[in-house]
Amino acid sequence: MTATMRVGIDLGGTKIAGAALAADGRALAEDRAPAPRHDYAATIEAVSEMVAHLEAAAGAKGSVGIGMPGSLSPRTGLVQNANSTWLNGRPFQHDLEAHLARPLRLANDANCFALSEAVDGAGAGTRSVFGVILGTGCGGGLVFEGKLIDGPRGIGGEWGHNPLPRPQDDEHPGPPCWCGRAGCMETWVSGPGLEADHARATGEHLPAETIAARARSGDAAARATLDRHAHRLARGLASVVNVFDPDLIVLGGGLSKLTHLYDVLPALVAPHVFADTPDVVIKPPRWGDAGGVRGAAWLWGVPS
Ligand SMILES: [Zn+2]
Repeated sequence: MTATMRVGIDLGGTKIAGAALAADGRALAEDRAPAPRHDYAATIEAVSEMVAHLEAAAGAKGSVGIGMPGSLSPRTGLVQNANSTWLNGRPFQHDLEAHLARPLRLANDANCFALSEAVDGAGAGTRSVFGVILGTGCGGGLVFEGKLIDGPRGIGGEWGHNPLPRPQDDEHPGPPCWCGRAGCMETWVSGPGLEADHARATGEHLPAETIAARARSGDAAARATLDRHAHRLARGLASVVNVFDPDLIVLGGGLSKLTHLYDVLPALVAPHVFADTPDVVIKPPRWGDAGGVRGAAWLWGVPS
């Protein structure tokens, strides 16, 4: 067991989650901590500490895989595209490897999530999965026949900074995005995107969960916000379906808990899908919040 123990770390915008997994995928130890914000050195320190805690709790040393915001540029090795912007341009892998004195494998957090759900989650037994993170940001990962699709730029599955398709008059150019563009999918369909849209419409700044709870109790403005959000999400998802044609879309991140999405999305996606059978299967994650951690651990090999 000790030879094949795998540590997975999911570094998010606000929290770090980690687990030490046995070869069969069982969790031997788990840990959570707040993610340091706007502090690169503290981020390195916090991830290293969590690995040490997990290995001490599990009583063994393992391989370490890390799911991170953004990705490593294959050309420069530096972080790109992280909405935890203090990581961008930094040699994160190099610095973490120096700290932990061993080789590491890192991948985009949405890629880790997609891998976990494709291997033994909601997508088990299917050929192709599009894993979507709707959280602080909007990410995505593509898995085909059990393997992540990534290319020369390290951005496979990144749909969050595509523009909103078929924008209506009041959706163009769209809100400014941290990436420098305007109207990115992320500015509409992430948690903060949904909250900002509700605030623009009502003047009220509320967390997404409160907006969802109000919608359930019949609040018309909250229902309208969720309705706009679902229509926009559907248009964005359809554009990925038209390129990748996945067997299954799995939603992850905080907004994947909005259960109405699984009811309303298939019918909203269908009119935008270029096929005579436009039905698209959209599922919640089997592993909930743990998918990112599991997928990160399996960057060193999936369970046998
Ligand atoms: Zn953007």
